[in-house]
Amino acid sequence: MITRIVIAALLGAFTWSLMEYCIHRWMGHDRRFRRSLFGREHVRHHAEGDYFAPTWKKLIVGTVVALLLGTPATLLLGVTGFAWIAGLMGFYTCYEVLHRREHTHPGIGAYGRWARRHHFYHHFVDGRTNHGVTSPLWDLVFGTYRRPATIPVPPRLCMAWLRDPATGGIAPRFAPTFVMREPRGAR
Ligand SMILES: [Zn+2]
Ligand SMILES: [Zn+2]
Repeated sequence: MITRIVIAALLGAFTWSLMEYCIHRWMGHDRRFRRSLFGREHVRHHAEGDYFAPTWKKLIVGTVVALLLGTPATLLLGVTGFAWIAGLMGFYTCYEVLHRREHTHPGIGAYGRWARRHHFYHHFVDGRTNHGVTSPLWDLVFGTYRRPATIPVPPRLCMAWLRDPATGGIAPRFAPTFVMREPRGAR
């Protein structure tokens, strides 16, 4: 029984990982869905850099989705179905925390640094690639994975953690992965 619950929760996390990719790639970056609730919030996130959709909106949408998916799953499969939706919502929460921290704090460890390179390549180099936030899995599956070399950061959108407080430029410990993009017309 315990094994079945653990596997169901892991499958829930796996389900979120696919949803994370699909929602970001299509709802966030496909012109046909640009005017959706997620699409509009996501365009603003890219344009402003430090803008995130309000938590109350996420709580409402998250609760509706949890009820729509979790109710039939629990009615059909009992505690296994409940473990699946709990795993899905638990990993969704991890995604929200990770994404927010990518913008607000430097990465800790190899995974934290990878997650920032992967995500800011998406933000600043090519928004058609690297849609996954928690893993590169679905980018690899769908052929949108790019391994970042150097990421030019527009000065206006540069994260506070990336800056050297003394010079205002990129802190030396983040070079050469990140470089400040020259303002237009500077060359
Ligand atoms: Zn972001
Ligand atoms: Zn995006």
